[in-house]
Amino acid sequence: MNEVSERATVRTQDATARDSDAIGGTLKAVGYAAKHSFSHLKRFEFERERAKDNEIEIEVLFCGVCHSDIHQVKNEWSNTVYPCLPGHEVVGRVTRTGVAVSRHRVGDIVGVGCMIDSCGACAPCRAGDQNYCEGPNSWLATYNGPMIPAAKAPDHGNAYGRDNTFGGYSNILVVREDFALKIPAKLRPEVAAPILCAGVTTYSPMKHCGVKAGDRVGILGFGGLGDMAAKIAKALGATVTVFTRTPEKIQEAEKLGVAAVLESDDAALERLKSTFDFILSTVPQKHDLNPFIPLLKRDSTLCVVGALEPLEPVNNMLVAFHRQQIVGSLIGNLADTQEVLDFCATHDIGPDIELIDIDEINSAYKKVEGADVRFRYVINMASLQPPSV
Ligand SMILES: [Zn+2]
Ligand SMILES: [Zn+2]
Repeated sequence: MNEVSERATVRTQDATARDSDAIGGTLKAVGYAAKHSFSHLKRFEFERERAKDNEIEIEVLFCGVCHSDIHQVKNEWSNTVYPCLPGHEVVGRVTRTGVAVSRHRVGDIVGVGCMIDSCGACAPCRAGDQNYCEGPNSWLATYNGPMIPAAKAPDHGNAYGRDNTFGGYSNILVVREDFALKIPAKLRPEVAAPILCAGVTTYSPMKHCGVKAGDRVGILGFGGLGDMAAKIAKALGATVTVFTRTPEKIQEAEKLGVAAVLESDDAALERLKSTFDFILSTVPQKHDLNPFIPLLKRDSTLCVVGALEPLEPVNNMLVAFHRQQIVGSLIGNLADTQEVLDFCATHDIGPDIELIDIDEINSAYKKVEGADVRFRYVINMASLQPPSV
């Protein structure tokens, strides 16, 4: 296209010059979006409102590819708002700050996870658990709009004033400053990106359930979430065992310094009875927890984070006899997200990632769906051509 040279000029502009792109309080933006449930992601131009007083504008540098993005694009949770522009593992550079912003400065490297707002008034919000917001529209997701859309809200209202939000597969993001996390200097920005969802999703329940040094922790599933879970549990000082259906992953787990067991190895499961203080299931679809319940010690917990759908029925005979708990957990609050970023920097851990260009996104989705890849794809947003002028 003949816009290429102009685009190249735009890309070299500094943050101040970028302000001149504003048109009536909006910024030209571009990303990759799906128009309906059976379409591929394609280049999509749109406008974002400029930062208000307490908001920051972020030039997106990297965005992780989460399994949720694929569920959402394909409307597998029956709640997708189109166009669907995914991405909630966003790391970027602050390019502009509203006048009331005090936490971040232009040039800072920041991260945005699954949420960009919450009601701030309900009991969970006041307790700092924005991810369990009980406001009329619950929390505002980084993409796909409020978790409770107007049609399902008690008074059919929308406290956030927007039905859809566009995520991090884009060149720029505008968010309230308190929903942007600080990326520690020790973490490479592209490695930090998946920690904003996969990292906190596994860290938060381990913290909440009190996993500590010396505990025995089991991890079900060894994909993107399982990889982070194993590394975090090990860094917490736990003795970790990964359970997988894939023989090749046994060696991969051992390379991380954790034990690994094939789910089909009945003799191994028998030997491990009543030995675990905590088990985290990261399996991303319907599965059977019953073979793993006997592995828990009395009064211990099995937490499910991977699957947001009905599971195989749990046999309460197994649960009741040793007063165990089967629980769920959803991402993590802002404080936990900052904590896990700092924790990963301190312990020098992070996801195994593979960088891709934005135009490889559709084939990356196929691989994630088909192969249960252990590494995380992260989009290098430098590969996205700026919006047409
Ligand atoms: Zn995610
Ligand atoms: Zn709330």
